[in-house]
Amino acid sequence: MPMRIRTRFAPSPTGFIHLGNLRSALYPWAFARSKGGDFILRIEDTDQERSSLEAVEVILEGMHWLGLDPDEGPIYQMQRMDRYREVLKQMLADGSAYYCYMSEDELNRLRDQQMANKEKPRYNGFWRPEPGKTLPEPPKDALPVIRFKNPIGGSVIWKDAVKGMIEISNDELDDLIIARPDGTPTYNFCVVVDDLDMQITHVIRGDDHVNNTPRQINIMKALGGTPPVYAHLPTVLDESGEKMSKRNGALSVRDYQKMGYLPEAVLNYLARLGWSHGDAEVFTQEQFVKWFDLEHLGRSPAQHNPEKLLWLNHHYIQQGDAKRLAQLCMPFIHQQGIDLSQGPDFESVVNLLKDRANTLLEIVEGAKLFYQGRPNLSNEQISQNIPNAVIPAIADFRERLIASNPKTKEEVATQLKATLTQFQLKMPALAMPIRYALFATTQTPALDAVIAVMGKDEVVERLSKIG
Ligand code: GLU
Repeated sequence: MPMRIRTRFAPSPTGFIHLGNLRSALYPWAFARSKGGDFILRIEDTDQERSSLEAVEVILEGMHWLGLDPDEGPIYQMQRMDRYREVLKQMLADGSAYYCYMSEDELNRLRDQQMANKEKPRYNGFWRPEPGKTLPEPPKDALPVIRFKNPIGGSVIWKDAVKGMIEISNDELDDLIIARPDGTPTYNFCVVVDDLDMQITHVIRGDDHVNNTPRQINIMKALGGTPPVYAHLPTVLDESGEKMSKRNGALSVRDYQKMGYLPEAVLNYLARLGWSHGDAEVFTQEQFVKWFDLEHLGRSPAQHNPEKLLWLNHHYIQQGDAKRLAQLCMPFIHQQGIDLSQGPDFESVVNLLKDRANTLLEIVEGAKLFYQGRPNLSNEQISQNIPNAVIPAIADFRERLIASNPKTKEEVATQLKATLTQFQLKMPALAMPIRYALFATTQTPALDAVIAVMGKDEVVERLSKIG
């Protein structure tokens, strides 16, 4: 039977989760989906001082918004403490781990000595049991740490799906502390127990963890497990080539949501941030899942490009269904206190504006024009913006609207043209004053479309105030 693919996203909820961080959720999700496997969400919250519920919320919300729902989890490491203790006990019993009573002071002295001798600081194996070695009596009342008995000699070798063959000599790795004096398990140990228990087949994560991998592989083997495939993703850099971080102005998924980005645009954008499928730039979630593979992950750092993200957002808004876009605009409409009962059907307004908008916020900004009520133009405003000579043409157009009752922008355009021909005018000479008469501004989308959306009655009403 072929192996069932199981991947995981294992964030530590210890702070700000920027857009780049969620790429480490997207790729394992896509890999699991593309192989008909399972995607597991594991919250690595053992650093209780730095972990927060708020950060967990942001992760869950961001993933849900992007459609990256897990098949299992969230599983919280803090709820697995009993399991970690059980494995520690088992390792002490089978000799793959041991108690170490070396105090902080002793460790510091050892380090100073090694540094003075220009050696790499490392634990010297003092409490490591070996055949034929007699260990001293443990000091009274000292609380020991538990160390992993790392193999001596040989090396750890793995074929990283992104970085290729990696070989690390065991001499580089000292005996890692896997439980603190108070008995709490440490990070690398918990990851291994979880990856084994959760039967993870592919670990796809940021390459800031590549140094942990040889240690994790050794512990995994000591536990009788088979290491998963590792794929270490290069970092995401920001526009200025720095590592993406909050300090450098990186934004969270929530920020993009608030600015009126669509989830499909963000997903498409993130997908390309370190992976490619030929020269495809725009693709649906289904296509992405179908195409995603580990072979086409990028080997060099990806660079965040906000303009590309905005361009993709524009693309998806332009292609988007007006009804759905209108719904997605609602939170912004409420926030800004726009009263949709004061104007035309909102969906038709969205339909008019979506071609040129980059974000939902831009749609909402543009829509305000239609919901701010009739303009109250002073005589001075009228005389400055609506030339006397054009007033008869405006009156003619108004009459044509009443007579023809146009519904579509094409029908409106026919009436506009008839007036232009009759008065020997060019379009701007008529359109600008009409815009001003309707909205007290000349900045509006195409006049025929605007009039069709507003409706004949309201337009006639507003034009009748002029001339
Ligand atoms: N918790 C780690 C982090 O947020 C990820 C660990 C892993 O993927 O193995 O960086």
